[in-house]
Amino acid sequence: MAQPSTEHAPIVWANALMFALTLAAAVILVPWYGLTHGFSSADWAVFAVFLIANGMAITAGYHRLWAHRTYEAHWILRLVYLVFGTMALQNSVFAWCSGHRTHHLHVDDEDRDPYSARRGFWFSHIGWMLREYPSGREDFSNIPDLKKDPLLRFQHRYYVPLALAANFGLPLAAGVLFHDVWGMLILAGVLRLVWSHHVTFFINSLAHMWGTRPYTDDNSARDNPVLAVVTYGEGYHNFHHIFAHDYRNGVRWWQWDPTKWLIASLQLLGLTRRLKRTPVFQIQRALLAMQFKRAQARLARLPAAGAAAHIESLRARIAHEYESFLAALAEWARVKEQWLGDKKRAVREQWDQVHLQRCLREIETRLSRQLRRMRLLQAQLA
Ligand SMILES: [Zn+2]
Ligand SMILES: [Zn+2]
Repeated sequence: MAQPSTEHAPIVWANALMFALTLAAAVILVPWYGLTHGFSSADWAVFAVFLIANGMAITAGYHRLWAHRTYEAHWILRLVYLVFGTMALQNSVFAWCSGHRTHHLHVDDEDRDPYSARRGFWFSHIGWMLREYPSGREDFSNIPDLKKDPLLRFQHRYYVPLALAANFGLPLAAGVLFHDVWGMLILAGVLRLVWSHHVTFFINSLAHMWGTRPYTDDNSARDNPVLAVVTYGEGYHNFHHIFAHDYRNGVRWWQWDPTKWLIASLQLLGLTRRLKRTPVFQIQRALLAMQFKRAQARLARLPAAGAAAHIESLRARIAHEYESFLAALAEWARVKEQWLGDKKRAVREQWDQVHLQRCLREIETRLSRQLRRMRLLQAQLA
């Protein structure tokens, strides 16, 4: 692959100054004001509210609603996402989502992924925004759906004044309300912005470097529960890259993903609808395929001749598990085809459908048992 020409790309001064000055202001002003004047509990409370509102507007709004269309949202909710997403200062929805869709399409490609983790931590975290790299060239041809939304067109057109108004106006209003304008500007203004920026940027950098790959190793995206805590659930990035149309990133019920809980709760109020979920079977198939891939790689590293008896027995058990995995896949395809055929002819009886659904559930149960067995075998191989 040709090396991208990066050294001579012109610097984007507006971004470079914004990131540098806000970081410097946070590092200097927060301890100085804290020591000389002290922050009130209202300063900290508003800081937390704005921080979470900015974070969730990016994860639930920019990312899962607009970039991936994993659900539909009422216009009131979209407006709230827009206000706090604009405040997060991560560019317009058009620019953010267009770049993000390109990231998914060309993930890890050094020439086409705008924040390819292959180009290192610095580049994928923030460097990609500091220069006009060819990989980051704006091209809105991949967001025809978003361009139809008048709210988004308005935000894109007036992005700079709107972003300035949100970043100064909201902390200022809170400062006037709680009688501490400077404390609020420093905490709910500057520190909130810097914190919010870097935790989001971790998804492009750390979440492509640190963690596990249970669903696919075709790309560098990782699942990382620690990152999930600071990023409102976006740390389950390996799952996200393979099933990007799912409104959940942490797919298991116990995985820390406040964004999925928010989207699901708002459905009860009628503010979200048509939440997309990946079928259980597809998730299990991906998990098992990875288990077999890993087991094969480990077996290949073991000596072929004169292997101990227990290794031979493990080899045989894994081969047997693989056969039954392939049989389950074939069975699933057969049942699904039958179900779709019936649906097409529109002649199926209710009990037929119930019967077929039961068959599919049984295959899922078989696969989840097999997954447990494979994990045990994997532990013996390690
Ligand atoms: Zn990614
Ligand atoms: Zn994404």
